[in-house]
Amino acid sequence: MSEFPTTARVVIIGGGAVGASALYHLARAGWRDCVLLEKNELTAGSTWHAAGNVPTFSTSWSIMNMQRYSTELYAGLGHAVDYPMNYHVTGSIRLAHSRERMQEFERAKGMGLYQGMNLEILSPAETQERYPFLETHDLVGSLYDPADGDIDPAQLTQALAKGARDMGARIERFCPATGVSRKNGEWIIHTAKGDIACEYVVNAAGYYAQRVGEWFRKYGGRTVPMMVMSHQYLLSEEIPELEKWSRESGAKLPLLRDVDSSYYLRQEKNGLNLGPYEGNCKAHWVDPADPMPEDFSFQLYPDDLDRIEWHIEDAMARVPLLGQAGISKVINGPIPYAPDGNPLIGPMPGVPNAFEACVFTFGIAQGGGAGKVLAEWITEGQTEWDMWSCDPRRYTDYTDADYCVETGKQVYGHEYAMHFPHHRWPAGRDRKLSPIDDRIRSLGGQMGVYNGWERANWFAAEGDDTSEAATQTWNRNGPWARRVREECEAVRDAAGILDLPGFSRYRVQGEGADEWLRGFCTGGIPKIGRIGLIYVSDRRGRILTEMSVMRIKEDFYFLITAGGAEWHDLELVKSRLPRETAIEVQNVTKDFMTQIFTGPKSREILAQITDADLTLPWLSHQSAKIGEHWVQLVRVSFAGELGWEIHTQMPDTAAVYDIVMAAGVGHGLKPFGMFALNALRIEKGYRAWKGDLSTDYSILEGGLERFVKLDKPQEFVGKAAILSERQRGVAKRFVMLVVDAGDADAPYMSTLWHDGEVVGETTSGAWGYRVNASVALGMLRADLAVPGTEIEVEIYGERCRAVVQEDQPLWDPANERLRA
Ligand SMILES: Cc1cc2nc3c(=O)[nH]c(=O)nc-3n(C[C@H](O)[C@H](O)[C@H](O)COP(=O)(O)OP(=O)(O)OC[C@H]3O[C@@H](n4cnc5c(N)ncnc54)[C@H](O)[C@@H]3O)c2cc1C
Repeated sequence: MSEFPTTARVVIIGGGAVGASALYHLARAGWRDCVLLEKNELTAGSTWHAAGNVPTFSTSWSIMNMQRYSTELYAGLGHAVDYPMNYHVTGSIRLAHSRERMQEFERAKGMGLYQGMNLEILSPAETQERYPFLETHDLVGSLYDPADGDIDPAQLTQALAKGARDMGARIERFCPATGVSRKNGEWIIHTAKGDIACEYVVNAAGYYAQRVGEWFRKYGGRTVPMMVMSHQYLLSEEIPELEKWSRESGAKLPLLRDVDSSYYLRQEKNGLNLGPYEGNCKAHWVDPADPMPEDFSFQLYPDDLDRIEWHIEDAMARVPLLGQAGISKVINGPIPYAPDGNPLIGPMPGVPNAFEACVFTFGIAQGGGAGKVLAEWITEGQTEWDMWSCDPRRYTDYTDADYCVETGKQVYGHEYAMHFPHHRWPAGRDRKLSPIDDRIRSLGGQMGVYNGWERANWFAAEGDDTSEAATQTWNRNGPWARRVREECEAVRDAAGILDLPGFSRYRVQGEGADEWLRGFCTGGIPKIGRIGLIYVSDRRGRILTEMSVMRIKEDFYFLITAGGAEWHDLELVKSRLPRETAIEVQNVTKDFMTQIFTGPKSREILAQITDADLTLPWLSHQSAKIGEHWVQLVRVSFAGELGWEIHTQMPDTAAVYDIVMAAGVGHGLKPFGMFALNALRIEKGYRAWKGDLSTDYSILEGGLERFVKLDKPQEFVGKAAILSERQRGVAKRFVMLVVDAGDADAPYMSTLWHDGEVVGETTSGAWGYRVNASVALGMLRADLAVPGTEIEVEIYGERCRAVVQEDQPLWDPANERLRA
């Protein structure tokens, strides 16, 4: 056992909490022949100095899942692996200074309940009962999380390491990985002590993940999107009054988070630990004058209390006890940040058999869950929970260093901010622009970001309030609402045009391409000259993706898929190609542009400017000319009206757009944006990827059986699972709901209630301007998924009556307008 291992199934680079958890979970899954490499001692990176807070709170379903799992794991870990563990489950209190904050808490409470957690909403008086030293005069209330607490990060890591070792896994300390290479389909991990050949490799190198990631560039990888922030917490000296209270009550104070003032305050022994996320924050190692050192093991940055002075004063006013003692210690250490603050867990984009479990901002709280997710990725190729929010492929080619620094600082400075549905964050913008971006903005386009591309969310008119402040609401109404209504009405009554840059697109051609496609998807494929939807399932019959297939000729078609799915779906396609094949797949997303051109007058407008046959039916496509320019006209409309997608080559886009806009004068043609499109598609019951369509649901639960052909000769992934689920019957079922909503429509993951029981969740919701109702799509317990059933949807704490609709579009149920 003492000899250096020269082979392993998996090598993990990095021995922080996350790497150790990955090793532990791999070993628990029976993959014991795994090695973890740590260049120094375990915990030498960010882990050793972490404050150790372990919240479950999140407004992301998957992050909440991961954190909840961590708390459950940590509660039993010391016992399971026989290692001493200081894990204090003290509960936590999050303070609300506004009604909007209380609404956010209500939403988290609903999600928590669905995950089996009992979060509580407290009044200011109840808050004070649980936290006697608190000033509450200016509070609206708080959220109490009984599962929150703190753990010793070093003990946690050592316990996971012991558990893994006891099961047979290996840990090589003081053994830096120095590079990787590939030989005979295996990875060779070069280390200071020798090479290890392995099947899989995991980058768990914490704030060094970008450096380690560079080794994989020559094998198809990209630069890891991340940057490093400095984060400080300070420890107070002992506070006699707190010592007395703890002694007498036998308790520890709940962990306090004043999220609107942006800090946490935790009892540490008989003192307090204050950790602010300051707006005036500092990135490290981001410019040549401040290079990242070769080694920073067990080191800290110099204290910088000036930066957090405001927070110290604010915390002393909130908990005056804090002012009774001096500061005994300041910890200022590095935390890696991805551009959205979520970690990278999953397949390394573009690289075979390589995975990432790195860039953790809350790696102590998330480490347990992350280890489980990573182990599932490697051993099963799929995860129990849909983990798109952490999937490394959510970022594509636009995340250069400036982008990462701007967005990382933005996230850090707004760590506890509310994420309002109509708000768009200002940092890291204008990375990928449509060739008609100038035209869209001059028409009043209020832009949002979709996989780095700027698209208009809505079009403001002269005098509309377009300030960021106006978007600080959960409500449907704001300055955009009137314009979104006008845009939807133009699409309904005349015509609308939406510039959709970054619609992901792959050209697939070569002998055998048609046959391969038939086995790739669950259902049938369209005839030549037609376009149709296909679904791709995983082995469990769950929904991996939805794509449109535009079939050009035999063995030649385009696969078109969601903007955000660009790298995910490309890898999916490539991973399922036969080993030896004549089929070529090319990502041509950047070569083409798309306009959604739709509405009852779209035909008469197009007739003026194209030689195309505009009588061709719904779901057809044709090459044609607009002016002198080649276009592909595709007779589909995600808005659910007569219409075409106008696909252009990048350089022709501006000219074609100008011709269409000029032809629309006098016909009521109006540009419309993504907010309107979302409202229009929801009325049709069209699902959106990673909201309504995710691996949390099966194809059958998603109500997509008409896209499944069990009798086709081609075997497809997930067939056996779909067959058995069909025999068993589904547990949940996709439904459309009309909701008696108040001021807000149902956000993602609002709980559905029936007879006092939680019976499902929404996957999206919006106001439908054509049907004049609040509409939600969701997953409901199968026995209740019957048209006419009344249930309730909990929207930011308010239970609203909702009625299950027929399994057909709410707007134009027979698709007559689409087929017109
Ligand atoms: C002041 C502060 C307070 C924090 N408080 C909390 C908190 O309360 N709760 C929370 O959840 N999170 C907290 N964090 C964040 C937390 O510390 C990190 O998210 C977490 O430690 C990340 O763990 P990791 O395993 O991903 O990375 P790390 O702990 O950084 O581990 C990566 C390891 O990889 C090793 N390594 C790097 N390169 C190589 C190589 N080439 N070969 C071999 N080994 C290599 C490093 O030596 C290191 O040990 C805090 C961070 C700071 C700075």
